[in-house]
Amino acid sequence: MRIFHLSAECYPVAKVGGLADVVGALPKYQNLAGLDAAVVMPYYDRKFTRENEFDTVFQGATLLGTRRLYFEILKEKTNKLGFELFLIKIPGLIDRENIYSYPDETEQFIAFQLSFLDWISYSQQSPDIIHCHDHHSGLVPFLLQHSKLYTRLAKTPTVFTIHNGQYHGAFGWDKLSYLPEIDLTKTGLLDWSGGINPLASAVRCATKYTTVSPSYLEELMLNSNGLEYLFFLERAKGVGIINGIDTEIWNPATDPMIAENYSATKIAAGKDKNKQALCTRFNLDPAKPLIAFIGRLVYEKGADLLAEALETSLEEFTSKVNFLILGAGETKTEMELQELKEKFPTDCNVYIGYNEELAHLVYAGSDFLLMPSRVEPCGLNQLYSLRYGTMPMVRSTGGLKDTVPDFGDTGGYGIRYNNTSVEDICYAISRAVVLFDDNKQLQTLRKRMMVLDFSWDVSTKQYIELYKSLNTTTI
Ligand code: ADP
Repeated sequence: MRIFHLSAECYPVAKVGGLADVVGALPKYQNLAGLDAAVVMPYYDRKFTRENEFDTVFQGATLLGTRRLYFEILKEKTNKLGFELFLIKIPGLIDRENIYSYPDETEQFIAFQLSFLDWISYSQQSPDIIHCHDHHSGLVPFLLQHSKLYTRLAKTPTVFTIHNGQYHGAFGWDKLSYLPEIDLTKTGLLDWSGGINPLASAVRCATKYTTVSPSYLEELMLNSNGLEYLFFLERAKGVGIINGIDTEIWNPATDPMIAENYSATKIAAGKDKNKQALCTRFNLDPAKPLIAFIGRLVYEKGADLLAEALETSLEEFTSKVNFLILGAGETKTEMELQELKEKFPTDCNVYIGYNEELAHLVYAGSDFLLMPSRVEPCGLNQLYSLRYGTMPMVRSTGGLKDTVPDFGDTGGYGIRYNNTSVEDICYAISRAVVLFDDNKQLQTLRKRMMVLDFSWDVSTKQYIELYKSLNTTTI
């Protein structure tokens, strides 16, 4: 069964968040299960693309309004990621360093989608499933069905996975001319609130849509940045499949990015060495409980409350707890956290920026990982921290709710709270401080966390079942 995954991100080629981790892992595990899955993404001028070799497998031209865009399809030569990787390059439009935030982002992602469709059309490929991820490829299901250019592919089943329902990629109707000739009686399928909304269009037009956790499927009907009613209407087409983690990359027993390797049979010594390394680097005290935060410093993640909550806790538990923040995002939050670090130089440290290697050490060397997210479609951080024996402290929402039971409940292993509020975060911190003093219980819980199985095996099977239900081809 031939699958094309379309995505703006894919680890290790280009990553901003969880989307990259999923698209870098799911196809690999699908191939191990006997599928023929490939990834198609925009070309970025980054380390991975500079350091690897590619063949040009197709050259073509597509039209974006009146602009003729020449594109190339580059294929990574070795398939070393465990799947075929295709990059779409359009000089001057899709050949830059960053993934997002260019003023012509709309043009970039439309051109990416059109080039993909033109490529598979002209080269007469017939994938069994086209699997689109987030709004960057959200117009594909509509275009396949309602543009004459792609009639041959119109019946191809499409799956649309929502990794983040807050971002829709919406743009004005004045840009309709960017799309190729379409059936104008169907433009309602593109529209939401008076604009062209790729996320809404994909939810309507894909054969099935999936969310990255079962709880998030329900929550989108209550909180999806204006699409709540659409998700209510389309609920029957939705399937919630929790993300897995790439257990080859995220494995404390072999991880080359941490100070000391360890496994579930010998946790304490390994974690201590990693904590020591982390504390030395960040001027913290390894004798105190270390609570970390890793992630985008944005409202969605509850990052705006971090400075106040941490300050309150540091005042309440004077000299009894340390904090370490790794993240980048909203300037105001970054500045508040820097000020906190200056106020509590031996109890709190902050690394503003993105650092993949450091993230591994933080998962390994911390005792607790704080996730006060307002919205968390799945969340990978809590899964990585569990694998490294670091207790997640999560707000009960989305994938956090589905994966982290409270240690106070039978079989539980995390700290849960209901609200993204300073009070609830501080209460969770106070529970962590108390638990840290009970070393025996902490070690028992760490062991419980580290033997959990959040590998892709289970989720891969669920995706394969979904594909099979849409396509009669046997795998
Ligand atoms: P989201 O995709 O919403 O940002 P996820 O929990 O799904 O959140 O995925 C976050 C991923 O990004 C994890 O792999 C996490 O380790 C990584 N990450 C986030 N911020 C940073 C950072 N500043 N440095 C290194 N890794 C980061």
